[in-house]
Amino acid sequence: MNSVRAREALAIPKNSDFSIFNIPFGIGKINGQQSRALSRLGNAVIDLHHLFSAGLLDIQGLNGETLLRHNLNDFIALGKSVTSQVRKRIQYLASTQSTDEEFQTFVRALHPIESTSMTMPVEVPNYTDFYSSKEHAFNVGSMFRGPDKALMPNWLHMPVAYHGRASSIVVSGTPIRRPRGQILPPEGDQPVFAPSRLLDFELEMAFVVGKANPLGTSISTSEAEDYIFGLVLFNDWSARDIQKWEYQPLGPFLGKNFASTVSPWIVTLEALEPFRVQGPPPEKPLLPYLQEKGPHHFDIDLFVDIQLPDGSTTTVCHSNMKYLYWSMAQQLAHHTVNGCNMQVGDMCASGTISGPTPDSYGSMLELAWRATRPLPMPDGSTRSFLHDGDTVILRGYAERNGMRVGFGHASGTILPAIEI
Ligand code: CA
Repeated sequence: MNSVRAREALAIPKNSDFSIFNIPFGIGKINGQQSRALSRLGNAVIDLHHLFSAGLLDIQGLNGETLLRHNLNDFIALGKSVTSQVRKRIQYLASTQSTDEEFQTFVRALHPIESTSMTMPVEVPNYTDFYSSKEHAFNVGSMFRGPDKALMPNWLHMPVAYHGRASSIVVSGTPIRRPRGQILPPEGDQPVFAPSRLLDFELEMAFVVGKANPLGTSISTSEAEDYIFGLVLFNDWSARDIQKWEYQPLGPFLGKNFASTVSPWIVTLEALEPFRVQGPPPEKPLLPYLQEKGPHHFDIDLFVDIQLPDGSTTTVCHSNMKYLYWSMAQQLAHHTVNGCNMQVGDMCASGTISGPTPDSYGSMLELAWRATRPLPMPDGSTRSFLHDGDTVILRGYAERNGMRVGFGHASGTILPAIEI
């Protein structure tokens, strides 16, 4: 095969999230075969074990067995000295710099995305959900306590978070069953047990921990990014009526732990390096352990689409990860400042990422402002919260100087509550 023609055969669409600058990692089954580690270029998945067996991933420290697991945990635990080399090697093989022989072998490891079913990229030992968007905290606080008391006194001093449920984190495409729970009716003082009527999404990003720290040690803001393997889109499905009744005094529980949806591809921090930006300046003096030098935010455009059962789709939110007040480095420093040990595969979600304008709010609660401004849908109906049959699709990508690095989708369709 002529090399130029072969490279054209890759046919990466111009606006693909999965350009040669990305090279994310995921787990999937190709044609129903054994689960394996994959990467992605355009509309093709790359079978990493195939590359390894063909001798194209001759990288010190890389163990081929880690490429044939049900999750990426052991691969990630090899460390960035190995995983970064794998990513760079794939970029080389797909480029015009590789030899014809290398390229032809490389192409044999490619399969169409349609032949592949993606599964959870990691087994998640622990999941933490932060609350790091000031706009979101302010909006929700304003609704429940009024604008004067919107932010709690601690909010500008620390990245507030709670420990969530790891077992119910599911990969994009998994249907989401409407939860039932205790709900206090608007008129009344006795709770009822019923399907949630105020089902919502939360537009978040989550980082995947790539390196463990021993119990009793902490991670500084300057060390933190070395412990972050990469990012995924994260939908923290929320039942607002269950949440509202149960949350005091210990915080979210059954209103949150029925499901969270992630995108299947972990985009590495290296791939996001060109999109690093300065975050907002602190509004209060920070304790030394939360201070950080240099830019630690990332300019990633984020979108939420709602697709109706008839297939019509509308974009209800356009936000950006750079709007977060607290950076991932600050979140990780705070998480471990007491000696808490992080484990490889842990997920830390950002909290709902709302921007400054009403079309950038990252939840239905805010977009429809507590059901006072229902959102118009393409079929003439409106939404204040999600209906059965609605599909929520999170999308996100960074783009600069012709480089695009994206996350694909994190989607889930609402199924009716089970009759009991
Ligand atoms: Ca959340």
